[in-house]
Amino acid sequence: MTALMSSYGRLPISISHGAGAWLEDTEGRRYLDALGGIAVIAVGHCNERVSNAIADQARTLIHTSNLYGIPLQEQLGAELCDLAAMDKVFFCNSGAEANEAAIKIARLHGHKRGITNPTVIVMDNAFHGRTLATLTATGNAKIQQGFEPLVSGFTRAPFSDLEALEKIGAENDNIVGVMLEPIQGEGGIRPASQGYLAGLRQLCDQHNWLMITDEIQCGMGRTGKWFASQHENIVPDIITVAKALGNGMPIGACMARGDAAELIQPGSHGTTFGGNPLACRAGLAVIEEIKERNLLERVTVIGNTIREGLKQSVGNIQGVVSIRGDGLMIGIELDRDCPEMVGLALDAGLLINVTAGNVIRLLPPYTLTDEDVRLLIDRLTGCITAFLNTQESQGKTA
Ligand SMILES: *Cc1c(COP(=O)(O)O)cnc(C)c1O
Repeated sequence: MTALMSSYGRLPISISHGAGAWLEDTEGRRYLDALGGIAVIAVGHCNERVSNAIADQARTLIHTSNLYGIPLQEQLGAELCDLAAMDKVFFCNSGAEANEAAIKIARLHGHKRGITNPTVIVMDNAFHGRTLATLTATGNAKIQQGFEPLVSGFTRAPFSDLEALEKIGAENDNIVGVMLEPIQGEGGIRPASQGYLAGLRQLCDQHNWLMITDEIQCGMGRTGKWFASQHENIVPDIITVAKALGNGMPIGACMARGDAAELIQPGSHGTTFGGNPLACRAGLAVIEEIKERNLLERVTVIGNTIREGLKQSVGNIQGVVSIRGDGLMIGIELDRDCPEMVGLALDAGLLINVTAGNVIRLLPPYTLTDEDVRLLIDRLTGCITAFLNTQESQGKTA
């Protein structure tokens, strides 16, 4: 019996402790963590700088309230604005909350322009969270099912298709913004096509739409730049982050620039915990660690090594459709659903995830050693080969 609601289909292990990219379960088995708590553990488990900062802050001040000034929140806000070329930040506790803030800002932007029914364009196969507004924005019927009525004020477009957005813009005067992941995460590690983000930036400028990039999974250095939108040298109006920002401390942020940064006023939005001293201290330590250790460069190098290594080992075998992604956001698409891969990898001492049914997803810490990288490639190669071979012998080809 468990006292927990069955919101998760949990694997049959429990982790007791971890260091770097390694975790140990309560039975003493060790695992190489190639999932990083789903893109959260950027600088490794129990990173010394981050854990020391948290311990020190826990003895100094954990929480006051947003009724008072919070110097650590000011500091982290300034740091994030600097990295993202943004003007202002609202701090919260999760990704979904960061997106809620973004959606509320988009609606304020619309009302200010005299649009009484503001509508945000969202993408097929998007994932934006589990609150009512963010599950509505999510492009996956399974996540919405049973929770109807959904929230109004969204319209959907195919991902990475500028013409479709132009068409919506020509037909719908209520559009106030476009929200998207520069690289879709849950949707199967699908990067927007080259030039799309730059084209979208232009389109948003033409129509006075807010360009909102959900960088909760791909941001904070995961793709080798602080933010994935920076690969196309564009600056959105709003960027949301969470996951890696606290390396495990719950914290999210909605950043905005220009007019969009001024729309939230006293009384229009808030949260009790958001941006408390403990969470902000962790966020500052994460950024410092990434900078001090030049981890963005490291992400680019080892991301390429992993993709190249996997292309050599399994890229040409039947059943592997594509090996893609950017930096340490890596997807290996198979030609069939492969939920069994998670258990096979677990038995091999490797933590991975499968998303969109047939895409093996890797989101490892940026601090993988060369030896970790080699082991990751070896173990995953073994699992993919074993999975496809068993399927072949059982006559279950796609
Ligand atoms: C994880 C994720 C979210 C939701 O974040 P939570 O912290 O789980 O609420 C939103 N958008 C993207 C792209 C994500 O990967």
